[in-house]
Amino acid sequence: MSVESHPSGADPQTPTGETPLALTRRARRMSRVLHEHYPDARCELDFADAYQLLVATVLSAQTTDVRVNGVTPTLFARYPDARALAAADRTEVETIIQPTGFFRAKTESLLKLGAALVERFGGQVPGRLSDLVTLPGVGRKTANVVLGNAFDVPGITVDTHLGRVARRFGWTDETDPVAVEHAVGALFPRRDWTQLSHVLIFHGRRICHARKPACGACPVARLCPSYGEGETDPAAAARLVRTGPRA
Ligand code: SF4
Repeated sequence: MSVESHPSGADPQTPTGETPLALTRRARRMSRVLHEHYPDARCELDFADAYQLLVATVLSAQTTDVRVNGVTPTLFARYPDARALAAADRTEVETIIQPTGFFRAKTESLLKLGAALVERFGGQVPGRLSDLVTLPGVGRKTANVVLGNAFDVPGITVDTHLGRVARRFGWTDETDPVAVEHAVGALFPRRDWTQLSHVLIFHGRRICHARKPACGACPVARLCPSYGEGETDPAAAARLVRTGPRA
């Protein structure tokens, strides 16, 4: 990778030593390549409205989206809105969501979430970050997922994949999710944030894995300062690539 150094010779405050302008340009080039590579990148949770997405996102902690999608049709048929969820039978909810793991704690979160939506927001999911993060079980990541995908409010969703990929790209060296959110957000126009998040998460799930990134099969290898951290042999790397969501 060619790294454009800072003309003043001063510390440019980017993780790679690039100028901020060079970093922004490289980040946007990588983003364009990744958008072309993952044209179908999207939220992999199934949902029909903000309530369903909020519940599905709470359930998605420590499990795969496929597992969540396996239980939500039953859950939403039984509890179609916040009022129904607030009045739900605990044991029944536990039984339905059991396959997603941590089902007792998640049931507790869902019942409290339903109650809070009814008590404070008239049973509706609020469309503001500052309100969403006051809900039980809802952190900034969940709030951004809901805002970006159910309300069309741009947001960077910093999950484990996005954080790792952004650091490997040299876009940031922050590890705190909020700091990563701000660092990545500063490189792109606001309107691009939600789709960028999907694309980065797809890349982390399919190619730039935590343990064995498939560098030899990576579309942004030429632009990535971490090339070589994973398998570089093209045939071996191709075998590491996942083609769909993790079951
Ligand atoms: S080159 Fe390797 S480390 Fe860099 S983004 Fe691709 S898979 Fe990840």
